[in-house]
Amino acid sequence: MTQSISLVIATRNHGKTAEIRDLLKGYPIRIPSLDDFGPIPPVEEDGDTFEANAYKKASFTARVLGLPAMADDSGLVVEALGGAPGVHSARYAGPDASDEDRCRKLLQEMEHQSNRGAAFECVISVAVPGGPALIYEARCEGIITQEPVGANGFGYDPVFFYPPMGKTFAQMTMDEKSRISHRGKALRELREEFEKVLTWVRQHTPIPETFICEDDAP
Ligand code: IMP
Repeated sequence: MTQSISLVIATRNHGKTAEIRDLLKGYPIRIPSLDDFGPIPPVEEDGDTFEANAYKKASFTARVLGLPAMADDSGLVVEALGGAPGVHSARYAGPDASDEDRCRKLLQEMEHQSNRGAAFECVISVAVPGGPALIYEARCEGIITQEPVGANGFGYDPVFFYPPMGKTFAQMTMDEKSRISHRGKALRELREEFEKVLTWVRQHTPIPETFICEDDAP
């Protein structure tokens, strides 16, 4: 008999949860998110790389819950700013700033820069309670605009122009964006190997012992 598996998504972000569940539908697994469990202490995302933060979130969740878990970490890397905002993308303009504040700060920093090359990067980590993890990464290259353009999406979408489609991320539909985005590509990479991922997860997850009472024995 095949052991049924749960793969916890280590996020409380409903958008991410829906996107991941949709991509992995059809596989014989349960995909709960952190909202399906009681309170769990937050993980400090203090790693120097997207990989370190994704691993930290996935492995912490796997250890605390005793179940395999996956997490992603992503952000914008700007050439002229030496890779900033990078792992600090979410808090680039301070802890209480809005997406609009972050875009404004980025455009100010870029005011006199002629090199406007940038990339969104995403790392997905799948970890088991014992420690080991699998890593999937992808990036999407583009150009920082002179001003915000478009009203869709979130984060830095209005200031990230994608030349092959001639629009910013904020001018794309969700479908258009996920076909070419860093997160869409990393998730598809994971899906392409998902049978192997499930085998790896099963091999690295302890099977709970089943006790048969003598009275119940056939
Ligand atoms: P996290 O991976 O959810 O921690 O996201 C980090 C931050 O990177 C977000 O808060 C956004 O500011 C930025 N970011 C990540 N992915 C995107 C995207 O697809 N569009 C715009 N901003 C993004």
